[in-house]
Amino acid sequence: MSAQPRGAPGPDVAALLVAWFKQVARDLPWRRTADPYRIWVSEVMLQQTQVATVIPYFEKFVARFPMVEALAEASEPDVLAHWSGLGYYSRARMLHRAAKVIAHQHGGKLPGTAAALRELPGFGPYTAGAVASIAFGEQTPLVDGNVVRVLSRLFAVEGDPSTKPVQEKLWKLAGGLVPAREPGSFNQSLMELGALVCTPRNPTCLLCPVRVACAAQKAGQVARFPFPKAKKPRKALAWTCAVVFEEGKVLLGRRPQKGLFGGLWELPSAEGDAAKLSASLGPGFTLGAAIGKVSRTLTHRDLTLSLVHATRTRPMAQLGGYLEYLWVTPKEAGALGMSTAMSACLELAFPMKA
Ligand code: SF4
Repeated sequence: MSAQPRGAPGPDVAALLVAWFKQVARDLPWRRTADPYRIWVSEVMLQQTQVATVIPYFEKFVARFPMVEALAEASEPDVLAHWSGLGYYSRARMLHRAAKVIAHQHGGKLPGTAAALRELPGFGPYTAGAVASIAFGEQTPLVDGNVVRVLSRLFAVEGDPSTKPVQEKLWKLAGGLVPAREPGSFNQSLMELGALVCTPRNPTCLLCPVRVACAAQKAGQVARFPFPKAKKPRKALAWTCAVVFEEGKVLLGRRPQKGLFGGLWELPSAEGDAAKLSASLGPGFTLGAAIGKVSRTLTHRDLTLSLVHATRTRPMAQLGGYLEYLWVTPKEAGALGMSTAMSACLELAFPMKA
């Protein structure tokens, strides 16, 4: 017997999962609230980021911005500073933009359906489904990485799950399972099953509440699902970064909004070698000795940052290519919105001070 859509004969997958979820659900800060704003913040933070990493960021973020209005009124650098280290900074910028729309056009209240949420900046189908079902009890599905894995195994779904037809199939299957009663608990139970039991390697099928309904398990082919995604080639990215240090302060620039690390602070940098950096800084700077390198793995890129000393040879009014610039002590730099790669650069340049 394999999993059946809602109303079809067979095991009631939704009821089994919800009952199991109520027994095993982890006690997480965003599960202790019914506040749609906090549920939304948690869902955005949890995209691409592990639960354990998110918890302290979530607590700090909602303490600083306890309501939509507080987030809407904050400056972008303040929002990014509270996101600093979580990565995928476009999420924070979108969250901020959507908060402004909610504060100004919806009286500070999040719309209560997935369709209305989708109209807001940054609300993709997953976030809209999660907020609508968990915060507002709408009978609407969601599909994230954990749900892809669980449904692929439960229904023995063949094909690359990152392709459009397979994605559509998975959303349809999720939509067929989500119950009218407690849709939010059901959606969370699917994700929890993927996180705790139906794990990528060595799922603990013996402990699985829907084992009786699982097509992959029944066929003895759990390891076959989900099908592997086609690998995107990784790109090597090399930057050179200038450490300009005067009277105890280091020069930082804030990147334009668009592109990698948009809106974040960094040492003045250029893609390419020292000659490229020199050209981008202009004639007011002289580059000196190399300091060292920092390497970071991003989603589709391997980033290497080479640090060099630089000195200023004339007064500056602007820092070319940046929205604004600042002179701060290495310690003060830690409070600015900055990528983890750039924080590592500052630690390398100022080991005792950053
Ligand atoms: Fe996943 Fe195993 Fe449960 Fe199937 S039986 S859903 S493979 S944990």
